[in-house]
Amino acid sequence: MITFYPGPSKLYPQIEMYLGDAFHSGLLSMNHRSRPFMKMLSAAIASLKEKLAIPEAYEVVFVSSATECWEIIAQSLTSRTSYHIYNGAFGQKWKEYAHKIHGRAEGMPYQLNEQPRWASLEDTGPDLLCLTHTETSNGTAIADPVLSMLRASFEGLIAVDATSSMAGVALPWPAADIWYASVQKCFGLPSGLGVMILSPRAVERAKRTGEAAHYNSLEFVVENFRKFQTPYTPNILGIYLLGRLMDWLEPVGVTAGALMRRAADMYGFLAGHGFGLPVQSLECRSATVITVEAEKHIIAGLKTFALDRDIVLGNGYGEKKETTFRIANFPAITDPEFDILKECLLDFKTANRL
Ligand SMILES: *Cc1c(COP(=O)(O)O)cnc(C)c1O
Repeated sequence: MITFYPGPSKLYPQIEMYLGDAFHSGLLSMNHRSRPFMKMLSAAIASLKEKLAIPEAYEVVFVSSATECWEIIAQSLTSRTSYHIYNGAFGQKWKEYAHKIHGRAEGMPYQLNEQPRWASLEDTGPDLLCLTHTETSNGTAIADPVLSMLRASFEGLIAVDATSSMAGVALPWPAADIWYASVQKCFGLPSGLGVMILSPRAVERAKRTGEAAHYNSLEFVVENFRKFQTPYTPNILGIYLLGRLMDWLEPVGVTAGALMRRAADMYGFLAGHGFGLPVQSLECRSATVITVEAEKHIIAGLKTFALDRDIVLGNGYGEKKETTFRIANFPAITDPEFDILKECLLDFKTANRL
């Protein structure tokens, strides 16, 4: 079985060995206040920061999911209002979650082939801008120069959901204060762990807000992690696997280079063979999630055709559930697997005289 599903997605094959190692290490039956756990946590964070080239001054905490990050940001980092600029289902859900918590989420949708704009921000006075780096539901991404411009024109904190790009793409860390991801997508790890990366300004905001009503109130979480402790019994296995993977992984620049080349190749292949690409603007195309559009019956036929060859394509999402399918271009998926996918797509065309 080859899966191109954008989450949970293909695991790196060495996870199998790491799972055994984790079992035999004894860490999984050990108190999370113990020295060995603290040492493992500390090493996992150091390795993550090194391989992903995260600035020294940024702090890393582990939570349970990206969804939890939506709640933490709404609880602990929003003093006035949060402003959400989104073009798809995940960005919109984030706004809805925030609104349920503080009732002051505002926002502006933008179109598929546009980049986020920020013209009206000064009037509304939000102190937190919320962006989705890669919108997993439709395969768009925010371009680095656009993030930098947003950074330059907005004084508050910027939070970025990078669930489908972190660990695959070289993210421009200084352009935002809060970056987060779940690990079951681009990291190629099992689900159940969230990574949250905080600038000094974000940590300072958490302190100033002083929100302390939740088990995951951010100041409390950060204080714990500074001592290599956690507020509650964490996903020890998930953290162990992440640490082992980071020790093995190449620096993100190397991974990203290969991923970018493969994305360009795949977009070229799809366009060259008449597959519909809803994201036309090159600047807006995600390198890690590729969306293909076609009529409903063709999408359904293609998914079945692929499945007969043990290839799993990602379903469409939201409004375009039945008229698109998605291809994860995550680093755990190999080039030969992409060759098999291309062959399958060509055979489908031939078989259906398309
Ligand atoms: C998958 C995804 C989420 C939700 O992740 P969970 O691990 O289910 O919380 C949030 N944002 C984006 C962009 C995603 O792709």
